Amino acid sequence: MEQNPNFVREDTCPACGHHLDSATEPLQPLERPGWGSISICINCKTVLRFNPAMKLQLADEHELDAEQLAHIRKIRTALTINEKIHGPPPSVRARRRRGMDR
Ligand SMILES: [Zn+2]
Repeated sequence: MEQNPNFVREDTCPACGHHLDSATEPLQPLERPGWGSISICINCKTVLRFNPAMKLQLADEHELDAEQLAHIRKIRTALTINEKIHGPPPSVRARRRRGMDR
């Protein structure tokens, strides 16, 4: 059985308040995120980091190295292009419709 690499736990983006119900490790998509892993909010695209309790907190982009920053830029671009083509992901669309997200 294939292991689900998604970390499934509900949390809230500290930047925009978007309800997040799963996360992947963007730099190593086959790995489950762990303490210190970075993540990106699917709604506002803010870079986040898992703290020791695996809660999401704002990440300091200045702490990321050039390779990580380049990867983050690619993911943000992919999210933006995907949203332009397909519209926002269903969870984002529903919350924006209800005025819950910016
Ligand atoms: Zn957000």
